[in-house]
Amino acid sequence: MTDQRKFQRRIENFVCENCGAEVKGNGFTDHCPVCLWGRHVDVNPGDRASSCRGMMRPIRVEAKSGKYLLYYKCKECRHKFRVRSAPNDEFDLIIKLINK
Ligand SMILES: [Zn+2]
Ligand SMILES: [Zn+2]
Repeated sequence: MTDQRKFQRRIENFVCENCGAEVKGNGFTDHCPVCLWGRHVDVNPGDRASSCRGMMRPIRVEAKSGKYLLYYKCKECRHKFRVRSAPNDEFDLIIKLINK
């Protein structure tokens, strides 16, 4: 059976290097729900193609038709990146980053 989905779904638990939270991955988890920081592992969302592994700092949030887009900048290579927020993200932080 061949399944050529571009998005690689992997269950990955990790400890957030920014705040130390233990994050349970669900296969789509690409950032810490507690502090919203992420890790530079993707070139395109979900592909895990980057070897940078730098910490991705959330710089702002854009609200779009009821959904939230998190904008990141990698501390190592300054790569800019955008992901969708997850339902368990810390909402107070999202609000703080809106309209920055
Ligand atoms: Zn964190
Ligand atoms: Zn990077």
